[in-house]
Amino acid sequence: MLQAPERHSLFIDNEAIAPASGDSLPVIDPSDGRVFAQIARGAGADVDRAVRAARRAFDGAGTEPAAGLWGRADAAQRGRVLHRWADLVASQRETLATVESRDTGKPLAQARADAVALARYFEFYAGAADKLHGQTIPYRHGYTVLTLREPHGVTGHIIPWNYPMQIFGRSVGAALAAGNACVVKPAEDACLSLLRVAQLGAEAGLPPGALNLVTGLGAEAGQALAEHPGIDHISFTGSPDTGRRVAQAAATHHCPVTLELGGKSPQLVFADADIEAALPVLVGAIVQNAGQTCSAGSRVLIEACVHDRVIGLLAERFAALRAGPAHADLDLGPLVSRRQYQRVRDFLSEAQSGGLRFAAQGVVVGDAPPEGFYQAPVLLADVPPVHRLAQEEIFGPVLAASRFDDEAHAVALANGTPYGLVAGLWTRDGARQLRLARQLRAGQVFVNNYGAGGGVELPFGGVGRSGYGREKGFEALYAFTALKTVALRHD
Ligand code: NAD
Repeated sequence: MLQAPERHSLFIDNEAIAPASGDSLPVIDPSDGRVFAQIARGAGADVDRAVRAARRAFDGAGTEPAAGLWGRADAAQRGRVLHRWADLVASQRETLATVESRDTGKPLAQARADAVALARYFEFYAGAADKLHGQTIPYRHGYTVLTLREPHGVTGHIIPWNYPMQIFGRSVGAALAAGNACVVKPAEDACLSLLRVAQLGAEAGLPPGALNLVTGLGAEAGQALAEHPGIDHISFTGSPDTGRRVAQAAATHHCPVTLELGGKSPQLVFADADIEAALPVLVGAIVQNAGQTCSAGSRVLIEACVHDRVIGLLAERFAALRAGPAHADLDLGPLVSRRQYQRVRDFLSEAQSGGLRFAAQGVVVGDAPPEGFYQAPVLLADVPPVHRLAQEEIFGPVLAASRFDDEAHAVALANGTPYGLVAGLWTRDGARQLRLARQLRAGQVFVNNYGAGGGVELPFGGVGRSGYGREKGFEALYAFTALKTVALRHD
């Protein structure tokens, strides 16, 4: 007998709440294309209810339930709650990873790493909560001037489907540590882990209203959140087009926005690099999460004199890659949805019709259900730098390789897209490392590594079409606070 899909509610005021409309949305397992759950289809009225709950927790009047309990909590108290939350996430790592893996299609080992990263974000911001302080500023005689870092109030968080736990951790962890109350709109394609994480937050001691989740569609719940006048700051991660819409909606009420919009990040391989060390990192940076990573290393630029050798070595590795069901824990799982699968297929058809060279392709394992959204990894060689495949974010396991003649050419190619999120640089030449780290147009530059293993502590964000504002590390705490200057005249 077929099991009825599990049903999920909204999470407001620490309670599971049905959406005002009573409607739900199906959740599809990307490994087999089947519906296995239903989520609540939240919309404007539910967002409004969540924003009011958050406002109460932040600065509500004394008679209201949970009034100001989070906004008035000491920084150390907030840190202790985040610490307990980190411990609960760590203790439920396997459950969370299993849920995330089924919901997103990512292999279990990668989902496990995401759960570990989530706990680490909470741990980092737990420790940082009571170390976020202002300064005193030397001013004229007779004055004392100080700055205060104050929470914005109610912050909105729009989360994509590619790394629900990690992106929630970096965004909500920092916002709560800084003293804000949060309303979160997870992605309709993958939100089940976050509903569980929110419950763990309540168990850890978050008071009602400090954290609220409204699941639903982007055009409904997401748009309502961005437009809501009760939101004091919005953090958005997702596509450039939606990011622009969110910023426009937020601008109608002068709400500050942090946008993290993805990239077309290059890795530059010079002839003097340790190529053996670079190879697994070049492959991992595009295969991780089936290429659905904002910071995916989706372009590789190779110095002409080693180009053919590096392409040959990469091709060997690509041919050995295997895609299959998330639970099989292979190199990569399916893409998250039929829509995303179709988008990647369209890019590849364009590559084929445009005569691009398919230097190598991995395999989809034979027992992968035919209804799943599988795409074997593809290495494209000699991609003209102006080609759409070398310019646009595909968000799939497709690596575009091009060659360069010298350093200036390499920088011109690396900087030659509208994006600027991350860049990787492989060379043993110390002067070149520093010179290029300065010349590359990116929010993060990695030299002889890529991604630094996640780097919870390392500020992250882009320039140009990759967005603006910084998350992660202490920078996120600054972004989730407003600076107030107090000038006291005493003489
Ligand atoms: P998207 O930007 O539309 O969705 C991201 C989040 O925004 C989701 O929670 C969604 O519900 C919400 N959203 C959608 N429309 C909204 C609106 N009008 N107002 C407010 N919120 C809204 O991304 P997508 O359509 O799911 O994916 C399309 C492409 O975006 C991908 O192929 C990829 O290139 C890119 N993407 C990038 C990232 C990243 O990490 N930078 C993440 C996901 C997708």
